[in-house]
Amino acid sequence: MTGTTHPTCRHCGADLEMTLVDLGLSPLANSYVDPAKADKPDPVYPLHARVCTECWLVQVDDVVPAEEIFSTDYAYFSSFSDSWLAHCRDYVEKMVDRFDLGPDDLVIEIASNDGYLLQYFVEKGIPVLGIEPSGNVAATAQERGVRTLVDYFGEALARKVAAVEKPPALIASANVLAHVPDINDFVAGIATLLTGDAVYTVEFPHLLNLIKSVQFDTIYHEHYSYLSLLAVETIFAKAGLRVFDVEELPTHGGSLRVYACLEGASHPEGPGLAKVRADEAAAQFDRPEGYMNFTTQVEALRDGLLAFLRETKARGDTVAAYGAAAKGNTLLNYAGIGPDLISYCVDRNPAKQNTLLPGSHIPVHGVEALREAPPDYVLILPWNIRDEVIGQLSDLKVRFVTAVPEVRIS
Ligand SMILES: [Zn+2]
Repeated sequence: MTGTTHPTCRHCGADLEMTLVDLGLSPLANSYVDPAKADKPDPVYPLHARVCTECWLVQVDDVVPAEEIFSTDYAYFSSFSDSWLAHCRDYVEKMVDRFDLGPDDLVIEIASNDGYLLQYFVEKGIPVLGIEPSGNVAATAQERGVRTLVDYFGEALARKVAAVEKPPALIASANVLAHVPDINDFVAGIATLLTGDAVYTVEFPHLLNLIKSVQFDTIYHEHYSYLSLLAVETIFAKAGLRVFDVEELPTHGGSLRVYACLEGASHPEGPGLAKVRADEAAAQFDRPEGYMNFTTQVEALRDGLLAFLRETKARGDTVAAYGAAAKGNTLLNYAGIGPDLISYCVDRNPAKQNTLLPGSHIPVHGVEALREAPPDYVLILPWNIRDEVIGQLSDLKVRFVTAVPEVRIS
C-alpha cells in the first residue's frame, strides 16, 4: 500500500482519495521509550486517516508492520481499569442469560489479553478458549485459569481451531476488529468458526462519536479501522455474516456492540439495528458530506489546548498528565506538546512507569508522584475515564482538565 499517491481500501480495494484528517508524522503510540535511549530519535510513521467512498470504511494507512506494533513486550494489560472490568462482568451476565450458556458450551474470545473477560465465564463453569498474540499477557491469563492459545487470529488459525475444538456457542471480541490490518481475513475466520445459531459479538468505538465529539486522539497506527455500522454490515455480508442486533455502549467515548450470526441463522432483528442505521443516515455516513469538516474541528481543538497550556505556564502553574494511553500520545504528538508544558505523566501500569512517552518524551511515573509533587492541574489523557480518575484522586487539591471535545476544567 505504501509508495502510491492513493493507498487502497483494506476491505474493497478502491482507491482512497478522501482524507478524514492527516495527523502528520507520529511515533507508535504504545512504544514507550527507555530513558537510557532518550537521545535516539523515535521512529515516526505517517498517521493519515482516509475515507473509502465505495464501502465507507474509515482507515489509516497500513505503514507499520504488525510485528513491530504487537511485539512480545506489548505493554497493554486490560485489567488495569476498574470501569472496564465492571463492563466485562456485565457483558458476561448478559450473554449467559440471553443465549442460555452453560457448562456444555464453549466461549472463544479473540484478543483475550490477560483473561480480563473470559475469567468471568470461567467463574460460572463455562469452558473458554482465549486467542491472544502477545505472549506475556497470555501468560497472565493462563495463571488465572483462562485457557489461552498464543497466536494471531485469521482464517488459517480458525480452520486449525475448528479442527480440534467443539464449535463455539459464542465468539467475543472487544476492541480488536478495529486493530486488525487484514479485516477481511479476520471476518472470514469468524465465519469459519460459526455454526448453526452461534453468535459473534464485537465491540468497537463508534465512528459516529469520533466525528461528533472530535475524538481524533483515538486515531493511531495500531487502530487501523474506524468503524460505522454501515461499514461493518457491508464487510460482514461479504463473508456471509448477518448483523441481527446492535447496542450502544458508553465505553471508549461511545461504542457499538454488534451481534452477528451466519446469514441463515434464526436470530430475529433486534430494535437497536434500525435506530443506529437511522443515526448514521442522518450523519450522512453514506456520502462525503459526513466526513468533510473533521480536519477543521481537530485544528480548533489543538489550538484550544495549546492556548490553555501556554497561559497556565505563563502564570507559573504546573500541569501533569494522567494515563499514558495511546490516545494521549496522538494528542500530545499532533499538538507538539513536550515536557516544557507538561512536567510528567502518571500511570497505574508498572510496565509503563519509568519510561518516556513516545515522541513527546514526557517522563512516566507511578500515580504516587501526584501526591509527592502535586501539580496545579492534572490533564486526564484518557478522557473516557474522566469521572473514574477524578474519583480515585479526590483527596488531591488539584484541578482536573480534559481536552476532548474541548478544554474542560473542573
Ligand atoms: Zn472500501
